[in-house]
Amino acid sequence: MSSLYTIAESLKSSVYLLAERRKYEQLVRHNQQSERESKKQEVLFEASKKLHAKIDVDSVLTEVIESIHSVYPNIEVDLLLSQDSHSTSLPVKPLNFQSLEDDISTRAFMEGHVIFEPTSDTDGPSYGNIAVPLSGKQGVYGVLYLHSAYDLIHSTDLQFISVLADTAGSAFENAKLYEQSNLLINELRLINEITKQLNQQSLRLNEIFNFASSELLSIFGADYCCILQTDKNEEKLVVQATNLPAMYHETFTLDEGFSGLIYTTKEPIIISDYWQNNKVSSTLMDRSQSRSLIGSPILVNGEVVGVILVVHSKPNFFSYDNYKLLQVLSGHIGLAMTNASLHAEVKRMVITDNLTGLYARHYLDEQANLMQKKDFCGSLIVVDIDNFKRVNDTYGHQIGDKILIQVSHIIKTSIRDTDIAARWGGEELAVYLPQVAKDQTVRIAERIRTRVIQETNPQVTVSCGVSDWNWEEDKISVESLFYRADMALYQAKNNGRNQIQIG
Ligand code: GH3
Ligand code: MG
Ligand code: MG
Repeated sequence: MSSLYTIAESLKSSVYLLAERRKYEQLVRHNQQSERESKKQEVLFEASKKLHAKIDVDSVLTEVIESIHSVYPNIEVDLLLSQDSHSTSLPVKPLNFQSLEDDISTRAFMEGHVIFEPTSDTDGPSYGNIAVPLSGKQGVYGVLYLHSAYDLIHSTDLQFISVLADTAGSAFENAKLYEQSNLLINELRLINEITKQLNQQSLRLNEIFNFASSELLSIFGADYCCILQTDKNEEKLVVQATNLPAMYHETFTLDEGFSGLIYTTKEPIIISDYWQNNKVSSTLMDRSQSRSLIGSPILVNGEVVGVILVVHSKPNFFSYDNYKLLQVLSGHIGLAMTNASLHAEVKRMVITDNLTGLYARHYLDEQANLMQKKDFCGSLIVVDIDNFKRVNDTYGHQIGDKILIQVSHIIKTSIRDTDIAARWGGEELAVYLPQVAKDQTVRIAERIRTRVIQETNPQVTVSCGVSDWNWEEDKISVESLFYRADMALYQAKNNGRNQIQIG
């Protein structure tokens, strides 16, 4: 009886022990679970604190991957990004949209929420792989794909991973925006610097082309650059600046090569690989052995005044941002070209006589003055139309003007480019001949005189006064040069006109 009692007692105590043990095991499991839960909480808290302090994309992503590893040490994390990532330290893979439709990473990206892929069919909590989108307010940037051969993720972990991914997504977005605004600031700084340089008053057109060409090369890290200018009269595009000597001053028709394409369409272009593109044959690409190209028209008031081509030997070298920036810079180069042309035109107008197209008197004065300071000798011819009052009276002022233009044309075509022909007064014209001695000058004056008789209609004659100077004289001045030529002219008139006298 007692033994029965003992058995019963021991049975009772073992049942009790068993129950106790269960309770204990439950407690341990519970403790483990809550330990893991509190670890997760801790990781989340730390991660969100750190993530929001990060301003570069790489450290955001590194932080996310580290946080996941600290909770699941055996899980592998693939980072799939939709845009180009220049990271060298991270295991970034491109998102492959062509992959199978049931690829959970693609689905997570498209659908914008966490996708869990169970690997076992058991009831209750299941294990599997997870794809989590990295999304911010403006869109989805990529996907974190969590997978492992052993230590799979429990479906109850989904919430933790989602919260972490949300935090990471918004931190990633902030970092991206920061990165973009930095790029934008740098771009603006660059544009500002270049326009400042381009708009210097003193810049001439060819200086603008050369400056722009070398700046574009360094901005884009390109191999070669070509700036072509439209020649409207010849209907050609002319290379005005380049670092490829074989292309310098080369001319192209308005429909030839990439410059022709840009000229006709008025649109910029980007070519990622010339070798794969056989639509256009390009002298520049062939000669420079290039594969990448960005090009832009230089537009002024909707007209293509030039074309810019920037090339590199590697395919896919230029980014879309490069292409956009070239367009912006082309606009500024166009403005600088307009300014330089206007500037040159105003300068030309100031020194040119309207009616005859000869230089204005002050220009001849200034130039003669300058040359007397550096040359050894020079001479002057003053040309006056004979009896011009009578011509005006007979034929009228308009015909008088025409004759004046004819005589001016004869003078211009009888002298060299370095000689300066000016309208000295009403119908008095003058030519300064630098480094030319008297004898030669008289011959030129004689040529002018005979051509005037032959070529003017109605016919007129001219009288000329010639004077000269050389370095041996005591007092050299433009005034005395003119005075002597004028005196000689006076003599020619007195002597019966249509002749040359030397002062
Ligand atoms: P000469 O020189 O032979 O002594 O006689 P001239 O009749 O030419 O006399 P002068 O040179 O003194 O006269 C200048 C005349 O030229 C006065 C004016 O009628 C005319 N003249 C001056 N400038 C112009 C001009 O721009 N157009 C026209 N049509 N006539 C002009
Ligand atoms: Mg006269
Ligand atoms: Mg006169």
